[in-house]
Amino acid sequence: MIESLVATRPAEPFAELKSRVAEAIEAARDEILDLSHRIHANPEPAFEEHQAATWVAEMVARHGYAVEHPAGSLATAVRGRLTGGLGSDGPRIAVLAEYDALPGLGHGCGHNTMASSGVGAAIGLAAVRDAWAGEVVFLGTPAEERGSGKAIMIEDGLFEGVDAALLFHPCDRNHVEIAPLASEDVSVVFNGLQSHASAEPWSGRNALDAMIALFVSVGLWRQQLPPHCRVHGIIQEGGTAANIIPDRTRAWFMLRSADQAYYEVMKARFRRLCEAAAEAADVEVAIEFSGGASTMNHNRTLAGRWVANGEAYGVADEGMDPNSGSTDMANVSWVVPAIHPELAMTDVPTPGHSIEFRDAAARPRADQTVLLAATLVAQTAIDLLSDPDLVKAAWQEFRGAHGVAAP
Ligand SMILES: [Zn+2]
Ligand SMILES: [Zn+2]
Repeated sequence: MIESLVATRPAEPFAELKSRVAEAIEAARDEILDLSHRIHANPEPAFEEHQAATWVAEMVARHGYAVEHPAGSLATAVRGRLTGGLGSDGPRIAVLAEYDALPGLGHGCGHNTMASSGVGAAIGLAAVRDAWAGEVVFLGTPAEERGSGKAIMIEDGLFEGVDAALLFHPCDRNHVEIAPLASEDVSVVFNGLQSHASAEPWSGRNALDAMIALFVSVGLWRQQLPPHCRVHGIIQEGGTAANIIPDRTRAWFMLRSADQAYYEVMKARFRRLCEAAAEAADVEVAIEFSGGASTMNHNRTLAGRWVANGEAYGVADEGMDPNSGSTDMANVSWVVPAIHPELAMTDVPTPGHSIEFRDAAARPRADQTVLLAATLVAQTAIDLLSDPDLVKAAWQEFRGAHGVAAP
């Protein structure tokens, strides 16, 4: 497939220019794949992607981008800007790159392939800079797995003036559209009172009892939840010794729903479950929600171009991904026209957030997908940079089909 990337004639329009993009990405192939492997071998969790952000920033700078690192308020966010050789008067297209890993698992979501393909797309677009007007904005976007880094980058103004936002996510299938769930992280802390667990347990107030009551309540609640909802969590602190009544326990939950309005119902109910568990164990509770991700505002104008560009390389789109997680790219989709396409980097079935998916993300098949994704992101950007009417159509869809306020 790698050879065929340069041998294949890209989709019209602008097939000649798209060919040059594919050639430039192929020429930088070693550099792009080396980045993918380095990030894979050095996994860093959300907000701590210092090494990955530095590597990404250095690489886009080397290819002519004016780089800010950090960009905005996040230490591990990166912005690189490049003006077209035909002038700055044209569309402003953002190419996004995620690079955070999962605690205890590493790159089980394959974000090393997103970082390297995003940089690869930026390289491809820089190589044909003479042929377009406008601006390419490369954005290194931290903290997708926890904390919704892109929501913070939106607050920081990093999407202001952007006409479209593009990225790719690895999968075991090809889906131009996904249906991410509205989601938040919830930190739950129960505070009680320590005492000797044998000599005088009656003097303590047991924070672990409250935590167990909460997990039991959540388990029972699931049967009453609509199928589009998810609630799941882990215990991060469960006490310190068996002979001490635990005075502090801490859990990390996530609540999710495909229905933004119903999500608020869930949130209120979850809060009551926490309060009831605290009441039952005679302890105090502190509940903190953070990192909100929304449902997605699909842009079919952009999706159509992605699918057409992919078909030229034999990518058969499988429509909407039936499996739903959450992503902060959905937040971006309410600010500017955006897509979140997935490309297969391994065989079906390889579930995300697994050791199998992590290991697949550094194999030759994933490397091929990195180069393909870089090519398709860059070619879709070429469609937009070369045709301001397409940008207009994407915005018309954005405004028209979704005349309601963002959630
Ligand atoms: Zn991911
Ligand atoms: Zn993930």
